[in-house]
Amino acid sequence: MALCLDTRLLLRKVKDLRCFTPRRNRVKEKWAAARSKQPPTRLALQHFDATYSVQLGKLWPSVRVALLSEKKYGALLNNFSHGPLLADLHAQGCRDFMTDTDGEAQPSSEQKSVVGSKQESTDASVKKSEVDSQQLSPLQLSPNIKCLVFQRADVTRFKPARPDMHGLLGYYLMDAASVLPCLALDVQEGHNVLDLCAAPGGKSLALLQTQAIRFLCVNDSSVSRTMRLQKVLHSYVPKHFLIDEKLRITSFDGTRWGEIERNTFDRVLVDVPCTTDRHSLIENDNNIFSKNRVGERRRLPQLQLELLLAGIEAACPGGEILYSTCTLSQSQNQSVVELAIFLAREKHGIHLQVANLRPLTQMFRNTFHFAPDLHLGEMVIPHLAANFGPIYMCKLKRLT
Ligand code: SAM
Repeated sequence: MALCLDTRLLLRKVKDLRCFTPRRNRVKEKWAAARSKQPPTRLALQHFDATYSVQLGKLWPSVRVALLSEKKYGALLNNFSHGPLLADLHAQGCRDFMTDTDGEAQPSSEQKSVVGSKQESTDASVKKSEVDSQQLSPLQLSPNIKCLVFQRADVTRFKPARPDMHGLLGYYLMDAASVLPCLALDVQEGHNVLDLCAAPGGKSLALLQTQAIRFLCVNDSSVSRTMRLQKVLHSYVPKHFLIDEKLRITSFDGTRWGEIERNTFDRVLVDVPCTTDRHSLIENDNNIFSKNRVGERRRLPQLQLELLLAGIEAACPGGEILYSTCTLSQSQNQSVVELAIFLAREKHGIHLQVANLRPLTQMFRNTFHFAPDLHLGEMVIPHLAANFGPIYMCKLKRLT
């Protein structure tokens, strides 16, 4: 009985104490589950802290700060638009990063070589020791792709682009590092090109700027995003170009491309869906880290692998494939490429060679920060003074 009385007194004390808790801070028992729920952005940060602190080591704290800060844009100049744009942009203090190259930077003899998968390896890994003396033809960067950026540490924002007298916008705002995969793809005069995951269209637009492509096929499995892509193309590319035989817009499942069109394209861009690290840290809407998308997130590496394999099959022998993501994740970047090289050989008899993109990174090291010592591909890592990326890219050449 005495114990019962004690308990009742204790309960009353707790009740009294509740009176001192401001009403807005009181939580009903039945809402306790909701109280512990974390927003997707927080879950993303926890996930990145756990994985990238291991993967990037002492680089992670500075990359983390940059990822959580406002990103920088580049203005991809639209050659189809007519207007006194370049002078305007120069007057605002920005410069074409394509012309601000590091002339001093020459690839070393080791960098000049190409990591190859031509030599038979027994597992999926591609090691530095598998260096092939055969070198891919040097990159010839298109002089027609122009992307303007503000100087390092200058965080001025671009004004929205204005239409010219034909209604075409003068520039497209995008992460300037996203232009690098398009440059690395090295499109040449008369090429047939496939952009397998193209929406909303920034990279397709950059590829069109080369004015070298004979035929461009832009595809995205999402119908709503394909409509967005169409809208972008209509705002930047003249109508006659869009209805010509030069461009095809489709909305197929890219993983099945090999079933439709094999051994066809000179160049294939495989810019896959990924954890979009920057977006996942700042935006709760449509966030891949939300609780109801756990399965989708876990399946990403498999989807990426299937898309890359389909892109490899779509390329013609001698053709080149560029795999890119906007995540720092090793399991979505290097691991996917390694496995694709292995499976292309084992399942389809396709031998691939990995292109050395180090000359490209050396050339643009005034503008971007690149991850040091990746064993496969190259990656722009965010930095407060040059807050672009992350962008991972790896280029493969089909030998057979
Ligand atoms: N390349 C685009 C650009 O520069 O604007 C961005 C592409 S975004 C990173 C990845 C795209 O892949 C999304 O638009 C998504 O709809 C598309 N996608 C997802 N699964 C796909 C699939 N199975 N086949 C084709 N596209 C797919």
